[in-house]
Amino acid sequence: MRNLFNRILYFLLFISLVGASNNLNAQSQKPNFIIIFTDDQGYGDLGVYGHPTIKTPHIDQMAMEGQKWTNFYVAANVCTPSRSAIMTGRLPVRTGMYSNKRRVLFPDSDGGLPQTENTIARLLKQSGYATAAIGKWHLGHLPQYLPTSHGFDYYFGIPYSNDMDRVNDLTYMEYFADSKTENFNVPLMRNEEIIERPADQNTITKRYTEEAVKFINSHKDDPFFLYLAHSLPHVPLFAGEEFLGTSERGLYGDIIEEIDWSVGEILNALKKNGLDENTYVVFTSDNGPWLIFNEQGGSSGSLFGGKGTSYEGGVRVPTVIWGPGNVKPAVITEIGSTLDLLPTFCGLSGTAVPDDRVYDGFDISSVFVHAKESPRQSMFYYHGDHLFAVRKGDFKLYLYKNNPVGYPEKLEVLERPSLYNLAVDPSERFDLYEKNPEVIESITKLIEEHQANMVFGETQLERVIN
Ligand code: MG
Repeated sequence: MRNLFNRILYFLLFISLVGASNNLNAQSQKPNFIIIFTDDQGYGDLGVYGHPTIKTPHIDQMAMEGQKWTNFYVAANVCTPSRSAIMTGRLPVRTGMYSNKRRVLFPDSDGGLPQTENTIARLLKQSGYATAAIGKWHLGHLPQYLPTSHGFDYYFGIPYSNDMDRVNDLTYMEYFADSKTENFNVPLMRNEEIIERPADQNTITKRYTEEAVKFINSHKDDPFFLYLAHSLPHVPLFAGEEFLGTSERGLYGDIIEEIDWSVGEILNALKKNGLDENTYVVFTSDNGPWLIFNEQGGSSGSLFGGKGTSYEGGVRVPTVIWGPGNVKPAVITEIGSTLDLLPTFCGLSGTAVPDDRVYDGFDISSVFVHAKESPRQSMFYYHGDHLFAVRKGDFKLYLYKNNPVGYPEKLEVLERPSLYNLAVDPSERFDLYEKNPEVIESITKLIEEHQANMVFGETQLERVIN
């Protein structure tokens, strides 16, 4: 009898050990992913990227413990197309999220990211992930385009930019001279419902953070993907009362320092839940600084140009990758892009990427994990449907030029291309066209190959509600 009892006890112990090890395996095989995406933050607007007065201790610490990337690109120089690229791993010209007439989606837009596109959220969800989008979406505000129609279980945020739905008859500059949150009748949504209008933008960074921490706390036992897209520091600028008037950099600095606080809260939530060693956190921005707003806009640091241009300052963004025990600490000067996050997260989680379409991203997980050479060796800089420039290795060849502050737009075809060595000359000051015929030839060939295989999607950004 005693023997039988012992056998049953051992059997139960065995079952529970197998169960525990399966749980452990499930967790260790499927890492969590968090993207923290800021809006219009420049390359030079973080302490670790050399800003003299903005203090960002949490992001700086992330960079020390993880990777600071110095050649990381978005796929477009304004919000909507850039956001479509991070979500889909595809150039906006393929997915229809581009236009030469309307650069982004507006409250009267009838278009959005087509449901036929695969998003990071949709693929990871199919792989067993819990998914949440918190913050600015800007890939379509109609129900069929919202995050909950694109693979996210949960959405909390504003569906387009924080400067839209203006209520007064002021000039553009008057709106931003003395920002009031009630001047912008932007809706705040939970899933498909408007819960507040106008959204109180003074408290919005704090509330996004609380939502993000809540999501992490409630999914500590499942693999999860959290996309936290701050609606700031896009103008109009609003800081929480704890941060208002505290930064030497002024209001723009207050906001970046509040976002840095938010990053600290997210990392703390991961540590408290014991998830820090099984989570990859990517901090980056959707495009360069909005320079026409002077001190209300950010800084691209040593780079030339800003938002609305395909100069380096418009599309090269501050990027930190963090994952203690998984990400090899380093300063990475290899080329990377937000386009690469979809295949990289799929690679790290063992999720298949369907091969029914062309992706423009590379799996750069070997750079995250081992700080190896990046599989990405080139970058195509589109402005609407114009291929503005192409980078291959250290060299960037321009086919067009534009106003360096982006507005008013002055797009001109160059009589002859210009060429810069970005490793030596990141500020793009010295044209090397005459001296490097073999480089020109090699990039021209790359452009021909790229264009031969390019199929443009039908534009979604020119569709307007009648
Ligand atoms: Mg933006």
